[in-house]
Amino acid sequence: MVRDQLERIGVVGAGTMGSGIAQVAATTGYDVVMRDIEPEFVDSGVDSIAVSLERLAANDDLEEDPEAIRERIEGTTDLADLGGCDLVVEAALERLDVKKDIFRDLEDACDEDVLLATNTSTLSITSIASDLERPERVIGLHFMNPVPIMEGVEVVVGEKTTDEAAALAHEFAEDLGKTTWESDDKPGFVTNRILMPWINEGIRAYDEGVATKEDVDAGMELGTNVPMGPLTLADHIGLDICLHASETLHEELGDRYKPAYLLKRKVEAGDLGKKTGKGFYEYE
Ligand code: NAD
Repeated sequence: MVRDQLERIGVVGAGTMGSGIAQVAATTGYDVVMRDIEPEFVDSGVDSIAVSLERLAANDDLEEDPEAIRERIEGTTDLADLGGCDLVVEAALERLDVKKDIFRDLEDACDEDVLLATNTSTLSITSIASDLERPERVIGLHFMNPVPIMEGVEVVVGEKTTDEAAALAHEFAEDLGKTTWESDDKPGFVTNRILMPWINEGIRAYDEGVATKEDVDAGMELGTNVPMGPLTLADHIGLDICLHASETLHEELGDRYKPAYLLKRKVEAGDLGKKTGKGFYEYE
């Protein structure tokens, strides 16, 4: 049983994904320690969780008082506070050097049998674990954005990850009410390996005059039954995140992953999608 093995969950990074993961784990009943590097980042993560929980409560989507859930989350800037955790999910910056440092620190701070997971979208689990003494306890737990809403979690198995660690990661995600699938540790895993070229091709189709942006999206939504077309979805994900993921895949897998020119130009212009109010579309 997963609850016999995992009681206290650590989250590294209190941004979009870290706060979402902390929220869902606390809602399920786990005690959570969420760590960021500056107090204001921790506070901002805790505030966004409170807003999200209030919204869910207003829609009758919570079985418990939002404040009781919130109280299970402890915010901190001190890495040592993650020491008592049975599982730590890292959701910090998408940079290999940053993640490698974090995992080295976590290995020092935590017990030997801690399960160390990363929420990376594109980086190799095996590379992240390469300097560690216990790479067999490192795994990818790739939550989707927004974490409280999205049902799927991709479990990514590194070269050294044991079957037991993988089984525990699946059980944990399923305990959070998610459905999992598994990917080998190959660039982009299943989701971004397929999603990023799809988004880039949608952007090229628009840029090369195949159709208006609305019709590129309508063609994919109505013609292939996906809930969002590529340009709308890119705006939701963030164009900077799409570009970064595409560049990593391009480096690893070659020219078929080359980022679309218009994607680069929009990022350079600071039009990053919904979060900045403008991407391919404009937002309130
Ligand atoms: P974000 O920028 O919203 O948050 C990252 C947080 O990590 C920031 O608050 C930052 O201060 C903090 N941080 C940086 N270095 C740290 C350290 N050493 N210790 C603790 N905290 C640190 O980023 P995000 O969108 O939440 O993405 C986090 C991870 O999740 C990335 O690896 C990203 O690729 C992945 N991911 C993102 C999405 C998405 O749609 N946003 C989806 C799936 C996976």
